Amino acid sequence: MTTMIPPSDDGLNKRMAEVRALADAKGFSSAPERIWEMLALIHTEVSEATDAYKKGEPLEHVGEELIDATIRIFHLLSALGLDADALFDAKMTYNWQRPVKYNTVRGG
Ligand SMILES: [Mg+2]
Repeated sequence: MTTMIPPSDDGLNKRMAEVRALADAKGFSSAPERIWEMLALIHTEVSEATDAYKKGEPLEHVGEELIDATIRIFHLLSALGLDADALFDAKMTYNWQRPVKYNTVRGG
């Protein structure tokens, strides 16, 4: 059972609610048994962006595929009942406190 996060006036939760409304209106299930599928579909959009970039397609097309991935991520966050704004803010706060290149050997 998931909890619907109330949309904020701006920010990620507003976008998440917009994506969820579209998914519901267009008949895409947000049921828990679809979580694995939704995760896989995020990968497909990132792969489409990778392929478009590799082929030298216009950057707008690469961006369109990245937005597709973002939309699928928002849909999944909604299906999981998560607060995207709170998660984003917490993670960015944490990342700002980390050292340069997060102390990794090769960065990335
Ligand atoms: Mg796509």
